[in-house]
Amino acid sequence: MAYKEREKSSSLLIMESLMNRSNLSKDERNRYAYLVKGLEGEQILDRRTEMLECDCLVLNDLLLKINGTVVQIDSLLITANGICIYEVKNYEGKYFYEAEKLYKLLTKREVMSPLIQINRSQTLLRQLVEQLGFNVSVNAFVVFVNQQFTLYQAPPQEELLLPTLLNEHFARINGISARLTKNHRRIAEELKLLHMESSIFTDIPNYESEKLKRGITCSQCGVFMDDFTRSWTCTCKCCGHEELISGIVIRHAEEYKRLFPDQKITTSVICKWCGNKLSAKRIWNILHHYYQSKGKGRWTYFE
Ligand SMILES: [Zn+2]
Repeated sequence: MAYKEREKSSSLLIMESLMNRSNLSKDERNRYAYLVKGLEGEQILDRRTEMLECDCLVLNDLLLKINGTVVQIDSLLITANGICIYEVKNYEGKYFYEAEKLYKLLTKREVMSPLIQINRSQTLLRQLVEQLGFNVSVNAFVVFVNQQFTLYQAPPQEELLLPTLLNEHFARINGISARLTKNHRRIAEELKLLHMESSIFTDIPNYESEKLKRGITCSQCGVFMDDFTRSWTCTCKCCGHEELISGIVIRHAEEYKRLFPDQKITTSVICKWCGNKLSAKRIWNILHHYYQSKGKGRWTYFE
C-alpha cells in the first residue's frame, strides 16, 4: 500500500459530475476523456510500484510549493538508494523527439518538452530535501506507460522511460537489498505533511445548479438510480454495484459541496439534489450522523 494514496483530482470529479448531469460539448467531453486517460496512466504506474518487494515508500500525487514554485509529482518512490520521481505520460500512437521536444508524428505538433519539465521538478525537490536537512539523491524520470506508444529518434537518456524499459527499470529497483533508514521515513513524513490540496481547476466549463440534472447516480457507472426501498443498500440495475444508502447520501452531499462550495448543505438542498428519491427524514438522519450540524430548526445546515 502506498504511503500516500492517489485520489481522483477535484477537476476530474467535477467533470465527472458534469458528464453525468449535463450535456457537455464535444470539446468538454474530450477534456474529460483527457483527464480520465491521465489517471489511467498513473494507475498503470501504481500497479508497478505496488508490486515492488524491496523496502520502499511510495507517495502518489504530491503537490508541493518549493521556493515559491508549485511542483506536481505524479509518483515519488523512496528506496535506500535515494528518491525517484516519475512524471507519467499516457500517450498513445507515434511521436518523434527532436531538440529536447516531443512532437506528434502525424500533425508535427509539439506536445511537450519532457526533460525540461522533469529536470525542473528534480532541481526543486533536491533543494527541498536539502532544506529539510537530508542528504539523499533525487533521480527523475518521464515514464511513458502506454504499450501503444512509439517514440522515434528517442535519445538513449536514462530519464526517458519508454514502455519497453519499464520491466528493466523496476527489476533494478526491486533488486535494492538495503533497508530504509529512519531518515528515509522522516523524509516521507515531511513530504506528506507538505502536500497541498489542489485548488487549481483548469478548463472546467461554467455550470449552474438549475441546469444540472438532479438525481442519484451510481458511483461506478454514473447512471441515474431510481429504485429505492427501505433497505440499507441499493444496487445499480446497470452495473450491479451495491452501495450503502448512507454512503450514497454522503457522496452526493460531497458532490454538491464540490460543485457549489459557497452553498450550505441542508436537508432540503440534498433532498432536491438527490431528485427527491429519498425521504427528508432519512437524509436528515444520515447528514446528522456524519456532519456537524449548525443553526437551529429549519435553518439547520451541516459542515
Ligand atoms: Zn452502476
